[in-house]
Amino acid sequence: MKSKIVVALGGNALGNTPKEQLQLVKNTAKPIVDLIEEGNDVIIAHGNGPQVGMINLAMETASKSEAKTPEMPFPECGAMSQGYIGYHLQNAIREELLNRNINKPVATVITQVIVDKSDRAFENPTKPIGSFYTEGEAKTLTEQKGYIMKEDAGRGYRRVVPSPKPIDVAEKEVVKTLVDSGHVVITVGGGGIPVIKEGNSLIGVDAVIDKDFASEKIAEILDADYLIILTAVEKVAINFGKENEKWLDKITTKEASEYIKQGHFAPGSMLPKVEAAVEFARSKKGRKALITSLEKAKEGIKGLTGTLIID
Ligand code: ADP
Ligand code: MG
Repeated sequence: MKSKIVVALGGNALGNTPKEQLQLVKNTAKPIVDLIEEGNDVIIAHGNGPQVGMINLAMETASKSEAKTPEMPFPECGAMSQGYIGYHLQNAIREELLNRNINKPVATVITQVIVDKSDRAFENPTKPIGSFYTEGEAKTLTEQKGYIMKEDAGRGYRRVVPSPKPIDVAEKEVVKTLVDSGHVVITVGGGGIPVIKEGNSLIGVDAVIDKDFASEKIAEILDADYLIILTAVEKVAINFGKENEKWLDKITTKEASEYIKQGHFAPGSMLPKVEAAVEFARSKKGRKALITSLEKAKEGIKGLTGTLIID
């Protein structure tokens, strides 16, 4: 049966450098095109942690160097990361489609994701970005630019930004139109460029939206049947890494919520995935979420592996 599937790609689908990414996306394209070949509508979302970190750091370094390049705001760094990741992904998917004689256009939409100005996350920034600073430098940055600086695991001070929840996708109509016309779309890259709404303006904010939550949001908006989160592990586990570790095949949202409460999933890695999966499965009758690895995506959708989350 033909389904509408949002595929969220994790860090292992893209690697850590542009060169590595260009190579890795060839593999990443395969399971995606498998799904397309079977007749499904596929929408692709992805993370951008290492990429936006690299751009931000390079821009910071260059602006402080003799070159004195202009300072690059964080939302602009996010937009740049969406651009070059999308460029690699759309090319790799296009090529894999052509290799299989499938004629389907592929495009990346630079996507803004609307967040709430009064989201509690703005009161407590948690996401470290950019370079490391000494205590003194950190103080100066706070005084001069109002940055919130936090000590990062004994390695020095880093700027932290909030991680607000996505509310809406600014380009949703465009994405929907492309998907409805049978095009393959890459969207909400890196969780989307976070913006707040002020009148008719969308204003970029220094924040990071979790890509798992942004993927869930666009999946709901597009009325997808499936949210597939592809990561580094084949299944979700309880008692992860412990002697009594247990890999999960199929769980209800109720069971998942119970496991969340019991603290089985690491914040910042597996927790947002399970939370996003639960939210999606609960959002409408029949919607399912699957968490599995890139390599196992094809078997996963056939119900042969991965962790399926249903209501
Ligand atoms: P991505 O880049 O795909 O978002 P993350 O590194 O953020 O990947 O999250 C995936 C990682 O979460 C896995 O590689 C695994 O090490 C870790 N993890 C934490 N808790 C669990 C758990 N309960 N079950 C499975 N993996 C877990
Ligand atoms: Mg992650």
